[in-house]
Amino acid sequence: LFQATDKWIGGQDKLLGGLLSPDFDERSCIARYKSSFYRKPSLFEVSPYLVQRLREYEKYHKKCGPNSEFYKIAIEQLKSGRNVENTECKYAVFAQGNGLGNRMLAIVSTFLYSILTNRILIVEMKEETKNIFCEPFPESSWELPSDFPIKDLEWKFQRESPESFINLLENRSISLDANVSAESFPPFVFFDAWSNAWHVHGRIFCEDHQKIVQKFTWMITKSDCYYAPALFLYPEFENELRLMFPVKEAMFHHLGRYLFQPTNPVWEMIERFHQTYLTNTDEKIGLQIRIVSYDAPPFEKVYERIIECSEKEKLLPEIGISNLTNSVSNPTKRTSVLVISLFSEYYEKIKSTYYENSTVTGELVSVFQPTHELAQNTFAQFHNQKALAEMYLLSYCDKIATTAMSTFGYIAHGLAGLKPYILMTLNWQIAKPGPVCVQSKSVEPCLHSPPFPMCKPNTRVDPAEAVPYLRTCEDFDNGVKLF
Ligand code: GDP
Repeated sequence: LFQATDKWIGGQDKLLGGLLSPDFDERSCIARYKSSFYRKPSLFEVSPYLVQRLREYEKYHKKCGPNSEFYKIAIEQLKSGRNVENTECKYAVFAQGNGLGNRMLAIVSTFLYSILTNRILIVEMKEETKNIFCEPFPESSWELPSDFPIKDLEWKFQRESPESFINLLENRSISLDANVSAESFPPFVFFDAWSNAWHVHGRIFCEDHQKIVQKFTWMITKSDCYYAPALFLYPEFENELRLMFPVKEAMFHHLGRYLFQPTNPVWEMIERFHQTYLTNTDEKIGLQIRIVSYDAPPFEKVYERIIECSEKEKLLPEIGISNLTNSVSNPTKRTSVLVISLFSEYYEKIKSTYYENSTVTGELVSVFQPTHELAQNTFAQFHNQKALAEMYLLSYCDKIATTAMSTFGYIAHGLAGLKPYILMTLNWQIAKPGPVCVQSKSVEPCLHSPPFPMCKPNTRVDPAEAVPYLRTCEDFDNGVKLF
């Protein structure tokens, strides 16, 4: 028997094994201590070392974060137009880009990189990403203050920007010579971590480059991808990562549940939908059907593949004559199917199928879809709030089928800690031969464009071969993920 205290919800530890800090006002972010309890308990333990590193990070963030005295001093340094070496607080200012799924993967990656290199993560929140996530660090903020002297980072910095690490090296504004004083360096460095940046920047994580990057108080970085697994390829990070994540495939699962708590208005939508449609059910099945509109294949083709996958993996309840009498008034089981898609026709068709037909098992099937937004609208706050709500709702399902290569889907199964069924090639590769779906071997998101580190001459590392726990993704041959 456990003693019910307010540390527990329904018999589960509301701090998720120490992952979450107890130092928040619960009302400011209702989801924080509640959102995980619509799922089965996680199968992945949080390592005590990760807990220790998170608590240390939180202290550091409180000391150096926006509005602290250290932050004000660092801003003055930035304005002065020169770097200062060996400061107590170092910063990674993150500029976001692309859809919400991409953004979340990139934020997790930059947070991990910040922990590893002792930087404070501060995120540029444009209007479209405000009021979506709660503050993740107690008694401080991760939001870039509006008076930050450099504006509009997302658009200002590109690969060719003279402030990028590679360009600074090329222009001899910085030097790899460890004896050169970093006081002569420019006031900040831009680290381009955008997908496909690695063929130019693959060495930035190598020790010799890192030593120089570390001399900068300010780093501005921009990314749209899940580069966190790539950090395992660099010996200077590998040991720390192993200690934090003894089970590698739980990396996003832990960091995502730690960082991304929906704000109260988003949480209200999630809870309202869940309480209305997804409670009082024996099994929840989530289908994420991500159709990329600029290359949308015909509805019938996609639907055919979804049903073929469902039959192969026994996902949706089988249609047919039930041998059971009274199965409707006295159902054996109630199953809910949650359809997540920009379009409504998949939901309509599945719903009518279960209206017009009985199931072999006699179970009753209800089908729901929260929204059908028709188009990606990344620059609208309410649209993004609904996207997050749907990622969360999907993550509450017992079985999840996601669309190949969709970062939206990665977030949902990553938060859930579930290995999804991946609907292969629904978009431009619809005619590609191969299975219609496969079950993922890992709960981790895929890194679509990994670096091929070459830290020493002629030692090019193949990421899928380098370490035993990184393998080719099922849904993208060029990608790798942690297992
Ligand atoms: P990806 O493009 O599938 O990798 O996922 P992203 O999240 O990066 O970008 C897709 C964006 O389109 C989402 O963030 C949403 O803004 C929108 N979107 C796509 N599918 C859905 C959906 O099923 N529901 C909602 N609400 N929005 C969606």
